Amino acid sequence: MSDNKQKTLCAHVDEELHIKDPKAYIALIQPATHYCKGCGRSAAKAENVCKPEKIS
Ligand SMILES: [Zn+2]
Repeated sequence: MSDNKQKTLCAHVDEELHIKDPKAYIALIQPATHYCKGCGRSAAKAENVCKPEKIS
């Protein structure tokens, strides 16, 4: 699990973080500044999604 810090939201959702630890999940998505062009998720940091696109 050494790559935990670099895990994207997309991967977290695969592991159901939003169900297991909603607070941790919310911390990753708010305030949303980017969204993922790959899967449509929004995130607070570009590096949290696999294909970041800035929300203007
Ligand atoms: Zn994604």
